[in-house]
Amino acid sequence: MAVDSAKLVEIIKAISEKITENKEYLTQLDSAIGDADHGINMSKGFRAVVEKISGMEGKDCGTILKTVGMTLISTVGGASGPLYGTAFMKAGQAVTGKSHLDFNDLITLMEAALEGIKYRGKAEKGEKTIVDALEPAVEALKRHREEGVEVALREAVEEAKKGMEYTKDIIAKKGRASYLGERSLGHQDPGATSCYIMLETMAAQLLD
Ligand code: ADP
Ligand code: MG
Ligand code: MG
Repeated sequence: MAVDSAKLVEIIKAISEKITENKEYLTQLDSAIGDADHGINMSKGFRAVVEKISGMEGKDCGTILKTVGMTLISTVGGASGPLYGTAFMKAGQAVTGKSHLDFNDLITLMEAALEGIKYRGKAEKGEKTIVDALEPAVEALKRHREEGVEVALREAVEEAKKGMEYTKDIIAKKGRASYLGERSLGHQDPGATSCYIMLETMAAQLLD
């Protein structure tokens, strides 16, 4: 795998499209255990991102990812903005100055993104958050590193999906949904769902 800046911009645009396609769905999930704005927050953020990064094809991958992060932080009011924003900022910092990304860079930036979210939100796996989809995916990428990017990405998407589905069976410990306590049971977490959608889109872009 070799991703240049133009391809990276393409991947981010594809993520933005998928998020917008799923705007109603994400908002509906958030209406059950939150304040019914996750799809609105995410699509607003990514619309701003696409505007910002269009024309950045000549910049290095780190700068592009950092721009995504800063834009999400400054345009999304909800919890998800600073969390995903920090993830993209940390991912960008991890690949500063690189004009191309290989599979090892991908693992490095995904690890940095996960660390960023966990640092910012103080959530661990099992608390019904973004981390429940992202952490199993990053672990799968690392576990399958030797088998190559195709196998690793497929496994990562599969694990993210399982993690997302598992959020139905657990009680929220972080974010708005935690106010519901046991009443959060039975509902899939909106943030874990948006994370799965982003990972799935990224993988599809990298594997096509
Ligand atoms: P808000 O809750 O402020 O309205 P959103 O609805 O956009 O923001 O995002 C809600 C999602 O944010 C939740 O579904 C959850 O996945 C995620 N989230 C909330 N708090 C945390 C946290 N501390 N760490 C990781 N993810 C979190
Ligand atoms: Mg919300
Ligand atoms: Mg909100």
